[in-house]
Amino acid sequence: MGQPGPMRTVAVVGATGSIGSQTIEVVKAEPDRYRVTALGANRSVDALAALARELRPAVVAIAEGSLEAELKSGVPAGTEVRSGPGALASLAAEADVVVNGVVGFAGLPVTLAALEAGRRLALANKESLIAAGPLVQRARRTPGAEIVPVDSEHCAVHQCLRSGAADGTDVAEVVLTASGGPFRGRSADDLVGVTVDDALAHPTWSMGPKITVDSSTLMNKGLEVIEAVELFGPGYGVGYDQVRVVVHPQSVVHSMVTFSDGATVAQLSMPDMRLPIGYALAYPDRLATPFGAVDWASLRRLDFEPPDLGAFRCLALAYAAGRQGGTRPAQLSGANEVAVEAFLAGRIRWVDIPAVVEAALDRIEGTNPDTVDVVLESDRQARAAAARVIEELER
Ligand code: MG
Repeated sequence: MGQPGPMRTVAVVGATGSIGSQTIEVVKAEPDRYRVTALGANRSVDALAALARELRPAVVAIAEGSLEAELKSGVPAGTEVRSGPGALASLAAEADVVVNGVVGFAGLPVTLAALEAGRRLALANKESLIAAGPLVQRARRTPGAEIVPVDSEHCAVHQCLRSGAADGTDVAEVVLTASGGPFRGRSADDLVGVTVDDALAHPTWSMGPKITVDSSTLMNKGLEVIEAVELFGPGYGVGYDQVRVVVHPQSVVHSMVTFSDGATVAQLSMPDMRLPIGYALAYPDRLATPFGAVDWASLRRLDFEPPDLGAFRCLALAYAAGRQGGTRPAQLSGANEVAVEAFLAGRIRWVDIPAVVEAALDRIEGTNPDTVDVVLESDRQARAAAARVIEELER
């Protein structure tokens, strides 16, 4: 075991969600190396206050302003309480590492604030990078700013790239693995009657409902293709032609990189998000605590197959939006969030999700996002277009 580095402080934004809770488990596993100094949540005030009583951060923040008094009454005396729009983003300057586990588009301000503050961003919120790629790239150039991806596939790619040339010119292909979700192997016709419960029964990962549905449609993988180009395009020359998706039902190979000499390097571990979270906290070192190490006595096989683009249309929609660039990925993500909400509410069928996204994108134009306002407007347009498509479907 190496010498422990200096204590790193951690801000956990989206602290009460799936990524947030697992981040806190990682920090608790290595209390000599990591300390939580800031916690933020959207509106889960009781859970946030309980975490604050346990972890004693200097600052807590809640996005929902009306819950400030309730939060204040639940946290230890002397804890600074922030609330309202901008409260979560304000936590970015409070720690060495900012873990962005906010769900959906609401994570964008946290991403930008962390990078603009020159901090390490442990990024689990893929939507912010997808929706506002050009803005994130600009913020990423701030001295000290860096993104270490927490998304398991991109974390794997980040690890694989470390075995390549220092100048990154030897990357031939990034291979993102997809579990295939609960509907792997089903034909387009088989998928017409699937229910919310079916879609939430993910075979290998335990995640929140929105990302679990995105995993079942392969939209999650499509967004991850865009995420990969945003993360590894600058520096490694990775474009859409260099990102391949391979279905791998065991979710043990988290992704791979093929280099110019034909060698493919893979990262393997059992599905456990605490490993990528710990990697992002510890990089360039590694955690001393193993999470998800492969048990070679029980692992029997690793299968790979190409994705069925006819049955899982969201993947092709994402490649198309990514290639179009500009605000198209933001619009794709916004329309998809609305479609997934409608599916979870029982308003549309699972097979309607790609149909809603495609119809919504057909009704609006893309543009070049040079400010957050342009991104917000694109997102708003896409959500409104998707909502109209859904209303029409319900008639
Ligand atoms: Mg992922």
